Amino acid sequence: MDIYEGIELADCPYCGGAGLLEEENGWCWYVMCMDCGAQTTQFEYRRAEDRSAAAEKAAMIWNMGKVVSPSPGE
Ligand SMILES: [Zn+2]
Repeated sequence: MDIYEGIELADCPYCGGAGLLEEENGWCWYVMCMDCGAQTTQFEYRRAEDRSAAAEKAAMIWNMGKVVSPSPGE
């Protein structure tokens, strides 16, 4: 299964922009807003078989709105 195809992302809880699932150097996933730059924390995986689970967790946290704004107060 393609990880990107299998995961649905809600709109950004801050600005309503589109969320983007990103993989960081082959060790973790996070979701970032393409408009305002808000993002989840990073979800690390150590084994290849944990890769998709980490991606799903990042997406789940994003969809719950547990997102950190890079510029509070803006
Ligand atoms: Zn946003």
